[in-house]
Amino acid sequence: MNAPNRLRLDGAALVENWRALARMSGAAACGAAVKADGYGLGAAEVVARLEQAGCRDFFVATWAEAAALARDDRSISVLHGLRAADLPVACQLPARPVLNTVAQVQRWRESGAGPCDIMVDTGMNRLGVSPDDIAAGLLDGLPVDTLMSHLASAEEQDARINHDQRTVLVAIAVRSGARRISLANSAGIALGSDYAFDLTRPGVALYGGVPCAGLAGVIRPVVTIEAEVLQRRPVPTGGRVGYNLTWTAERDSIVAVVNLGYADGYRRAFSGRGLAYVGDTAVPVVGRVSMDLTAVDVTGLDVGEGDWIAFDSDLPHASAASGVSQYELLTGLGRRFDRIWA
Ligand SMILES: *Cc1c(COP(=O)(O)O)cnc(C)c1O
Repeated sequence: MNAPNRLRLDGAALVENWRALARMSGAAACGAAVKADGYGLGAAEVVARLEQAGCRDFFVATWAEAAALARDDRSISVLHGLRAADLPVACQLPARPVLNTVAQVQRWRESGAGPCDIMVDTGMNRLGVSPDDIAAGLLDGLPVDTLMSHLASAEEQDARINHDQRTVLVAIAVRSGARRISLANSAGIALGSDYAFDLTRPGVALYGGVPCAGLAGVIRPVVTIEAEVLQRRPVPTGGRVGYNLTWTAERDSIVAVVNLGYADGYRRAFSGRGLAYVGDTAVPVVGRVSMDLTAVDVTGLDVGEGDWIAFDSDLPHASAASGVSQYELLTGLGRRFDRIWA
């Protein structure tokens, strides 16, 4: 079956984005965050392409995500660590838990303790053991591959907290006994070589997100939503469109009703604000985005039933138009799309 909507995924742009981030990471290795099914694109396809390009370190959130990707010759870190319920699968899979709490460290030790990663909290107060626990010997004798921390405000280039978090990490690095240190996500890479350490962990920028000014002009779009026109409808002046009739035609208009809605991740926030393209011509979304349908004003254009319309693939632009973060726009992409890699 072929679906009436699809994601065009630009594999060359994905790889180019990774290469650009790897260059900016200097001597540090550049990994890839592929949690949330590769930010909605499809983790297996993303990993295959990045691995081909030379990426060696992958980050997922959960063990289910790890199980889908694990291979003996692949480094996968599971960011949410090791709940008691994760032990059976964690002991089987070739993947490392990123231990976040004292209880998780204890649990991993008791399980026989292969290589693991450690998250240390340096000021975000999200996941991670405390620097004090590490200083007191929490990790002594444990085979720690990577000690990592996560920046709270990496996209704010001049935020004092970036510097402070880095300082805390540096202070505990040697005591942790870790083989590698890692701090930077996508925006963290743009903070400069002081933040790269041994390994960087970009996510959103691989997929075309531009989280900070320092990555503008560096990152190419990867994802384009396309949807098929189900009906071409003349709407005379004064006619109104969609739920609650929020759009009124100010001239005799032609509206294309396409197979795309908020259940596909095309957010309701694009109502009256989204942008689509017929060829190179930009056309506005009109009226409310419904669950499965969206209307576009195609007056004067040669587009009809069965034609395809592309939606704005510039994530910073789409995010500004909708007020929805670039991360949410990507990770919300639904299961009904055909995902077509080029
Ligand atoms: C998601 C995540 C990343 C990637 O962050 P981006 O902002 O998408 O680059 C890196 N590290 C950790 C711990 C994460 O949870």
